[in-house]
Parts: sequence; C-alpha cells; structure tokens
Amino acid sequence: MLHGEHLEFHWDANNEGLVWSEDGNPLQGLTGGGERPEWILPKSWRDGKEHTFYVEMACNKMFGNAPGGDSIQPPDPNQRYMLWQADIVDVNLAVRGLRVDFWEIGDAAREFPGDSWQRHTALQVCNQIMDVFIAGEGSQESILKGRKIAQGYLGKHVDSPTVYDSKEDPIVYAIGHCHIDTCWLWPWAETRRKVVRSWSNQCDLMDRYPEHRFTCSQAQQYKWLKEDYPYTFDRVKEKVKQGQFLPIGGSWVEHDTNMPSGESLVRQFLYGQRFFESHFGERCQTFWLPDTFGYSSQLPQITRLAGMSRFFTQKLSWNNINNFPHTTFNWVALDGSQVLCHMAPSETYTADANFGDVKRSVTQHKSLDQDNTSLLVFGKGDGGGGPTRDMLEKLRRLRGMSDTSSQGLLPRVHMGNSVDDFFAKLEDKVASGTDLVTWYGELYFELHRGTYTTQANNKKNNRKQEIMMHDIEYLATLATLSDRKYKYPKKEIDELWENILLCQFHDCLPGSSIEMCYDDTDELYAHNHELGTKLKDNALAALGLSKKTAESGGETVAINTLPWSRTEIVKTQEDGYTVVYAEPGLSSTDLIELEASEKATITEKSDGVFLLGNSRFSVEVENGVITSLFDKKAKREVIAKGGKGNQLVIFDDKPLYWQAWDVEVFHLNSRKELHSGRSEIVEKGPYRVSVVTKTKISDKSWMKTTISLDASTGETDSPSYVSCEAEVEWHETMKFLKVEFPVDCVNTEATYETQYGLVRRPTHYNTTWDMAKFEVCCHKFADLSEANYGVSVLNDSKYGFATCGNLMRLSLLRAPKAPDAHADMGTHHIKWAIMPHTGALGPDTVHAAHNFNNPLNLVTIADGDEPDDDIFTSIAITGASSLVLDCVKRGEDDEDVSRGELTKRKGRSIILRIYESMGGKSRGTIKTTLDVKKVYKTNVLEDDLEELKYGAGEAEIELRPFEVATFRLQL
Ligand SMILES: [Zn+2]
Repeated sequence: MLHGEHLEFHWDANNEGLVWSEDGNPLQGLTGGGERPEWILPKSWRDGKEHTFYVEMACNKMFGNAPGGDSIQPPDPNQRYMLWQADIVDVNLAVRGLRVDFWEIGDAAREFPGDSWQRHTALQVCNQIMDVFIAGEGSQESILKGRKIAQGYLGKHVDSPTVYDSKEDPIVYAIGHCHIDTCWLWPWAETRRKVVRSWSNQCDLMDRYPEHRFTCSQAQQYKWLKEDYPYTFDRVKEKVKQGQFLPIGGSWVEHDTNMPSGESLVRQFLYGQRFFESHFGERCQTFWLPDTFGYSSQLPQITRLAGMSRFFTQKLSWNNINNFPHTTFNWVALDGSQVLCHMAPSETYTADANFGDVKRSVTQHKSLDQDNTSLLVFGKGDGGGGPTRDMLEKLRRLRGMSDTSSQGLLPRVHMGNSVDDFFAKLEDKVASGTDLVTWYGELYFELHRGTYTTQANNKKNNRKQEIMMHDIEYLATLATLSDRKYKYPKKEIDELWENILLCQFHDCLPGSSIEMCYDDTDELYAHNHELGTKLKDNALAALGLSKKTAESGGETVAINTLPWSRTEIVKTQEDGYTVVYAEPGLSSTDLIELEASEKATITEKSDGVFLLGNSRFSVEVENGVITSLFDKKAKREVIAKGGKGNQLVIFDDKPLYWQAWDVEVFHLNSRKELHSGRSEIVEKGPYRVSVVTKTKISDKSWMKTTISLDASTGETDSPSYVSCEAEVEWHETMKFLKVEFPVDCVNTEATYETQYGLVRRPTHYNTTWDMAKFEVCCHKFADLSEANYGVSVLNDSKYGFATCGNLMRLSLLRAPKAPDAHADMGTHHIKWAIMPHTGALGPDTVHAAHNFNNPLNLVTIADGDEPDDDIFTSIAITGASSLVLDCVKRGEDDEDVSRGELTKRKGRSIILRIYESMGGKSRGTIKTTLDVKKVYKTNVLEDDLEELKYGAGEAEIELRPFEVATFRLQL
C-alpha cells in the first residue's frame, strides 16, 4: 500500500521521455538531466492494488544528440543513455515550499541595489529563517516556522493561486511558453513527440496552478498533435476553452521571413488562421515570432491583412553590432501599414522566471519614456517541456514580493493575463494618447547572415515550388472555369502548400538544421514535385492541352502564366530554337526567322577572347570573365573601368561560432579570385550564342559556367540580358563562393527585391548601422542604378547579396560543417543574369526577374483537341505596369472548393492578388470576360472588405505604393 503526503515518480535517464497510462494515453513528458524528472502519482493509486504505467524514452536530449558540450555539432549516432534515477518519492511539500521561498528572498538579498533597504531586509529575513532551522528531530516544525517568516517578505498568499494583494494592473505580464523548433537538431518526427510531452505537462500544471497561462504558436504542431495524440489534443482543446491554453501567432509555423515569397507569407497566415479558427473558434490577434533571423519590411502589412495588429518578437537582442533601440514601438511596412510591436526586455523567450528576469523587464526596457509594461515569456523550450513547477512557484513569490515588501522596487509581476490582455491594454493607452516611437522598414537582424545562402538545394526547392504553386493554382482555376466536370484539387493544393510552409520553418529554410532534417525536406519536396506535376498535367488536360514530350504529336504551343506579354527564345526541339512572342495565355511556337540585325553573333576577337553581340549589347568574354559589356543603344560601358564582370571569388568563411548561421564581416578580407581556363564556344547563334568556361576551385571542387546572349528582336517585349548558367561540384570546408559584378554606376543605395516590393540598403559603411548590412537578403533581383541608367542582377534560386560601392556580389555557396557536417556538398545548378537598363530601376526588372524564374511552358494540343483559347484571356489587369497580378486562385470558402472546416460561401469565386511593385500609387483595371456578378476587395483571409464598382466586365482599382491587394470576383 502506498502511503505519504504527496507521492511522485522520479525518473532520469538524461534523455526525453513520456509517461503513458496503462490504457494508452500520453500523460506527461519527462526531461532528463534534472530538467523535469518527476510525475505525480494519482491519489487513487493508494488503494493497495497494482497499477501499471509506461515510460517511453527517446534517444535524444533536450537539444538533440550532439556529442560533448557543443550542442550544434552534428549528432552522434552512437550516443548512449543510462538510467540513473527511478524512485517513488514521498515529498515533504513544506520543505519544497521553503526552498523556493528562500531562493527568491536570497535573490532579493543579492540583486536589489546595495543602498536599498529592501535588500537589507531580505538579508535579515534569510538570516532569521536560517536561525530557526533545526536539523533532525523537530525539523518539520522549524521548516513551518521558516515559511511563516518568509511570508513576512513574500506576502501571505505565496501558496495561493488567485489572490492578488494589489488590484492594480501588472507591469510585467508573465506568460508561459515552450518554444519548440519544428525541426533543428532533431527531425520533424521527434518534434511531434516533443509537442505531446510539452503540452501534456502544461495541461497538468494548469490543473494545479489555475493562474497559469500558456501560449503556443504554430498550427502545424497542433495539427500533428491532433493526428498522433487525439487524447492530448482534446485536453488542449478543453484548456483553450477555459482560457488557460492560448493559441497564438496565426501562422502555420514560426517561419523565416527573409526568404519566403510574398504569397508564401500570405499562406503562412491563411493556413494558420484557418486552422486556429476551425479548431478553436477564433483567429489569433497577435503574430508571434520570437526566434527568426530578421523581419521583412512587408510583415506589418501582411500581418494586418491577416487580421492581426500586434507583433511579438525578441531575436534582435542578439544583434552583434548595434543595439536595437526600442522595446515597444509602432512598426511600419513599405505601404505605411503598421502593427504594435513588443520585444521582451528580459531578452529571452525561454526565461527561467527568476528574480533577475523580472528585474530586467524594467532595467532593460528601452521604451520606458512611453510605457513601462512588458511581457516576460518563460518556460523551457525544445524538449524542456515549457514552464516548470518551480517557475510557477517562483512567480507566485515574486508576485507577492512585488505587491508587498519590495515597495515598488521590483516591478509588479502577475500571471493570469494573456498576451492579448497585454496588447489590448497597450492599445488602450495608445488610443488615449500614449505616443509610441515608430520604426520604418525591415527589422534587419545583425547576425546569422549566412542563412541567406546555407543549404542551397533546399532554398532552390523553395523558390521552384513557390513558382510551381503559382502555375498550378492559375491553371486549375482556369480549368474549373473551362470544364464543369473538372474539380479544383483543393485537398492536394492544401497538402502542397502545407508542405512548403513547413519547410519554411525558421531553422529549416535558413539552413541551420542537421542533415536528417534536409533528408526529410528533400523527400517532401520530391513528393510535392511529383504531386504538383500531376495536378498541373490534369489542369492542362482539362484545358485541352498536354505536356510536350518527345513523342507527342500535335501542335506545340507556349503557355505564359505571367500576366504580361514577353518575348523569349525557346528551345522547341533538339538544338532548335525559335522566338516566341507570348501574350498571357497561349502562343504559337512556329519557327520565326530572325532579321539579320536581330541575330545573336559570336566571334573570336583574338586568341581566347570572344565577342558576343546582339542588337542591344556587345559582350567581351575572356577566361569566363566579362571584360566589357557595352550597351549599344545607351552608348555606355556597363563594367567599371578595369573591372571583371562575372568574376568568381572565394572567401575563408570561419564565423565565431554559429557555422551554418553566420558569416562575419572579416571574411571579406580573405577574398581570392578564382582563375578560369580558356572559354570555348558552345552555341553559335543565330538565336543564342554561348561560351563555356571551366574553373578549378580546389583539388576536389570545380565549376563550369556558360555565358549566353540571346537574339534581341526589334519588337521585343522583354529586355535583353547576359545570362549565366553554372554547374558547381562543391566539396569545401568553411569557404564562401560568390560571383562579382563591378559596374559603372554610382549610388549610395542599392535596391533589392523583397516580398511585394523593394528594399533599399546602403552601399557604404558610413555608420555601424550601414556596415552591419554587409550581407543582405534579396529575392529574384538586386539593382544598382543611377538616375538614368542601372544594372539589375537576376537569379533563379539565390537569396544572399552584397553591394559595396559599385561592386555587386551574388552569394552562391557556403560550406559550414555544423550542425550538418555535409551541408551543400555535391552538385549545384545555378542561374543568374546581368541586365543593364536605361532609366532608373523600373517594372522591366520586376517583369524580367519573374520571367527568368518562370520560363514559358511548352505544351501540345493533341490532334482533335480544341483548347479554350478565350479562357486564358478571361482575366487581365491593365493600367500601370508596376501592378503585378501575382496570384490567381479559387476562393477558399467557395461551395465547390471548401473542405468544410469553415462556413461555405454560395457560388464560385476567383481570388486575384495584385501588388504595386515600384513604390508609387498606381491605377489599373481588372478586366474579365467571365460572368462576374460582383467584385470585392478582401483581406488575405478572403473576408470581403468593400464592394468595388463593377460593370461591363471592368473594375477600376487603385493601389498605394507597395500595397498588397486581394480581390474576389463573385461569379
Ligand atoms: Zn527557434
């Protein structure tokens, strides 16, 4: 028979574990190494009968399986664990209570200022407790006496959940949290287990500590819990209903914000918010992203459009050059939308809830002139299982201390409020006159700059699949309009998107996870590619088209899925090229003979020096380097005097610690030019001319680059550029490969494409804030322009860039050895292009970068098939060329599309997402030949905001600079 006051099972094998009931329900997580070794035995088990429970053990610690003390080293597959504690313990609760009493008063005695009476009093209270303590016989009574003395300092209610001595609002809002990286030093499969362990702990603590509020983000983790552990999911649902378990964030995962496309960021919220709404009846109000590596300038706009006006983060406290100056502030996007942003002044999202954390919530608060409140986000993350009993006990005492004996020296700290309570109070204060400081544009993170480049293959897959989704949704939408029998493949599209969104997790897409995680993403991307290809083929078939293969007969046509006309040289068969003048939709690929003046030409000017030319450019190439790029129309040399365009360079890349994450400014000092062999002609025109060059990087690594110039026709819709295709065999250690373009352009700012817009960054190191941006994130292009001329560098899969003075540098490959020992080793295919342009940066570059990433699709019209030509031109945008129709899809809630999770909307609708790409208010017209009844402007969650004037197939639209606008055409 079990006896005792309070019985616990203590288990520690230095690893993670999970207690299961005899009937197969997960009850509570355990974390070894003393982190969380105990489980309370049910009172009902004192009935003298036999009871069984199970402990599941994982072969990993809190932070994976790294050998030794360095947790970011690649995991050791031969790690061994030993069970060193397995006890049933009768706990003396008074002793446990006194331990925490003494801990907190001791902290007060150590950490309050030396000249404060509160510190001296705390010291005296500690002395009194020690003086009454008796070891051995009579100890229990002395412990109770000690607790009584402690109450003099901590208040009478240290053991009580809800009694607050103070009726006033808290200054520090303590919020329980468990930051679980969706993958990192462990794969997704382990994260699924970390979730059930952590969240069952929290449900248990909520039973015992009614004031405990626990907030958790990432719809994906909730979905995994629902799939794998429905028992715990129901438990969580119950706690959500009771207001203790608080879903937050509104996004699918806590994603990277630098690299996902605009549409991906939208989908993070669309899929996230729809999950939260359908399972918990409410959308989130706060975007929660404590741990990602920089924050894109368009986040405030997209966050607003996803129904959230608040943003919590923390990571900028890791900046290694400048201190970010604000704690609570307005953050404004490119288009002027703003959110209320708060960064926890305790500078952590995994606080231990110590005395010092509460104290730092004021001493490190940078916005005290405006508002003194803050969030304290506490709880062990990543397998530590969230807040612990000790943390909650400490906070009860700190609450007591702040309400009584500290007399205001310790800020008033409370549990029991939600993050939304904190922000709502702030919003009230702002409404009644509190004037917060404003930060415009990106929150650039001055660390982890290598994450724009590491794990190149993964990043390339992300880019390619974003473009694949654009085409699938566009074609499938047209197919539903063309063929009533065709069913919009919503379930499959959701699956594809959820996979892409998952891979954008903040340790996944940035490249900071272990090798196992990238084995997982490779598999997922391959699955997506296969399924996506099938969906695209099905949609094409419904449109009377099939994909061109070597054997297929019939007429070959090109599909332009982009919303503007373009001219492209297309390879139609083996070694056969033609020019395609492509309108949006279908275009002929019939052979078009070029005029003599339009042809691309190549000559060997002198030994090993080649001259490539078309009607626009004359390009001199020697040993793979562009020594001259002359713009015949502008009569202007593009390459800086004496400069070498397309020069490959390599750097030593040895960061201080975080290998996969960081590239430090000192790597620039180790620049070495790679010397290439003699270039050789591979394409002689007239449609395309090319030279190929081999470059030895080291004994193990080499590169083959092909520089090409296409014919440039007189009536071209597309600007001409010099393109480069590289094959790299890469087997280096801590090296960084880049390609350089020294251009003859002067500007103190360069421009980079970001989601739905442009971001300008300095080209100089005037101040520490400028030099901190020595490596930055770009999307499909970077640009350095003067007032009337400039150069854009396009890419098909890269995100790292730097412009210093007139030197533009595209980052290609890194070679970190931790946490993935084999990151980026192997073969890579990379494309980029140098596009000089007359005039300042304009929509031509935006269009060219889209075209470069989304080549024309060749398909066959099978004999006898009559494709519905008109359907391809049934939706169009006219007006300002800076307006980009970026997404065409079916409405989420359409009755023939909706998956039944949320309310269905009658009838069918088409969603159009349009953004203003240049930064100027722009007007345009949505034109449609479809039977459209009404046109609405919506948010990104597809809630109607306003009805537009619509008639005769036209609706006028006007967009703010860099606005993202969503329209719903009700059929
Ligand atoms: Zn994280």
